[in-house]
Amino acid sequence: MSAAKATRALRVSEVFVSVQGEGASAGTPSVFVRLQGCSVGCAWCDTKYSWDPGHGRATTLERLLAEVAAAFGGARVELADGRALTWYGPRIPAALAGFRDLLGVGP
Ligand code: SF4
Repeated sequence: MSAAKATRALRVSEVFVSVQGEGASAGTPSVFVRLQGCSVGCAWCDTKYSWDPGHGRATTLERLLAEVAAAFGGARVELADGRALTWYGPRIPAALAGFRDLLGVGP
């Protein structure tokens, strides 16, 4: 990862360890990274605190990866919240590459 990519700011709502409750990975301990900023507005959303792109906390990809590594208690990293993937789209490939390195798996 280049130094420029590692130091650019992004906003994170929360990072926490839990058990995946959905899909084929249900029951798997995971680190959840919820990015801040979503404009979709789903009526059923249970994480409305993640909507405002000005809330959450600023971090860098480098610090985020260190935080995930410190919290890493499971076999999976879940990158959560829809619109944030649009806001941070250009940085997502670098984040995924960093998570793959943490997990020791190939692309
Ligand atoms: S995409 Fe996800 S975070 Fe965004 S409003 Fe819908 S449920 Fe909430």
